This record gives sequence, C-alpha cells and structure tokens, in this order.
Amino acid sequence: MPITSPEQCSNKVLSQRVCQLPAHLEGQPPLVRHWCQACLPPFCAKGIAVEKLREVARGEWCSKVNVFATCERCAKRHDTCLPVEPTFRRCFNILTFYIMRAKRYDATRRPEADDAWAEVHAYAVAVNQGMIHWRSEIKRLQKLDGGELEYARQRSASRENNFARYQQGLGGVGRMMPTNFVAHERMEAHFTRVDNSGNPAPGSATNRERRWYYYGPNTPDHVAPMSRDNSRQFAPGSPVGSDILRALTDDTRMQNSPH
Ligand SMILES: [Zn+2]
Ligand SMILES: [Zn+2]
Repeated sequence: MPITSPEQCSNKVLSQRVCQLPAHLEGQPPLVRHWCQACLPPFCAKGIAVEKLREVARGEWCSKVNVFATCERCAKRHDTCLPVEPTFRRCFNILTFYIMRAKRYDATRRPEADDAWAEVHAYAVAVNQGMIHWRSEIKRLQKLDGGELEYARQRSASRENNFARYQQGLGGVGRMMPTNFVAHERMEAHFTRVDNSGNPAPGSATNRERRWYYYGPNTPDHVAPMSRDNSRQFAPGSPVGSDILRALTDDTRMQNSPH
C-alpha cells in the first residue's frame, strides 16, 4: 500500500546507511503534494508583504491534480506546466513543510507566525535561485562533456556504479551530481539534526517528518549492528556461566540464611 500521509510513515530511527550517504547518492523523496515550477515564483516576489504571502498560500497554491496535468496558473497563461525537476523535489517538500507550519501558526495565532512566513519567503527565494543556477550549471557541464549525450552517459555511469562502489569503499565514477539540491543549509538542518543515539535533536523534525519530507516515506529503519555473539560464554553448563550461576546462588543463600 502506498504511504499517503506522514502519519503512515515509520517513526523509528533511520538507518545510518541512509543518513551517511554522500550527497550525490542520497535518495530522492517523491513530492508530498503537487507542485509545478511556475507556482514557486509567486512566493519569491521581491519585498513581498506577509499578507500577500498568506494570500498566495490560500487554498491550492498549485492546482495540479496529477503529475501530467496543467495547473490553473499555467492554464490561464496558456503555458506549459513544467513538473518539478527530481533534484528539487526535496526542496519543494521542505518548502511545503514551512508553508504548512506558517499556516498552522496562523491558525493557532502564534506570535511567531509572521516570522514563519518570512522564512517561507527566504526559502522559496533560495530554491528559485538554485533552480536558475542549476540549469546554467547543467548547460556548462554538457558543453564540457562534449554534448548532451555524453553528459547523459556520464550521469548514467554515476547512477549505475556508484552505490556499489560506495559500499565497497571506492570513490565514485562518472559525472557526479548531488541527487538533491540543498537550497538553505540552516533551514534544511531541521530535518537532519540528531543527538548521539541518532534520535532527532530537540526542536527538530520527527523521524516521521524526516521520512515524509526529506528522505522518502519508505526509508528503512535503523537496524542495530550485529553484536558480537557472546551468548556462548554465558550458556548454562559452560565453565564461566556455571561459575557465575554458582556465585549468585551462594550469595543469595548466604543472605537468606539466618546467621
Ligand atoms: Zn502550478
Ligand atoms: Zn503549472
């Protein structure tokens, strides 16, 4: 069954293998809601007032009904509705999180509501700039690699080989690119900050939210590393085991006997 809400995601600690992947191998989460590229700029307008941001985020702020559909904003302008580039899906998810949080603060009349909207704007601007720079970087690399085809071949070499190479402790090959763009390190750290035992740091996203918005809903749980099997040494009948047992019983007998 597909996971359709954050409540359905596991809230267990995430696998360390997932958290420790290098940037260009990290999994891409699916979008948590429909978005198109044209519905981002309205959040980025220079000097936009908080009230205007609230208006942009009212109702459906991108009305796509599926990934191939055209949203109202694009239909009105007779424009093609461009889907979100996979590299930016995580960014759009994080933006969704911050928009929902600002709306929640509004609903509960929290004094931080205006600041939350200012953060939505700051993050949207960072994502938009990132998309512009990313497109020109791809063009530059395609030129460097001698055309779109060779660039695509280099990317495919990376995708095919690098996970196996990483597991073997070898360096990557091909044209390595981050699988997810990082638009704003501080705001995204909300999803990655952990304490020493791998649990979310206080005030950070829960494991459930980290799965839903950041790593992808099916990200595996942390499985404890195989502990050194020392059950043998304490098995009943083995020299150490029986000595301990005997010592314990002797102790108990002494404590319980009247003397
Ligand atoms: Zn749209
Ligand atoms: Zn659109």
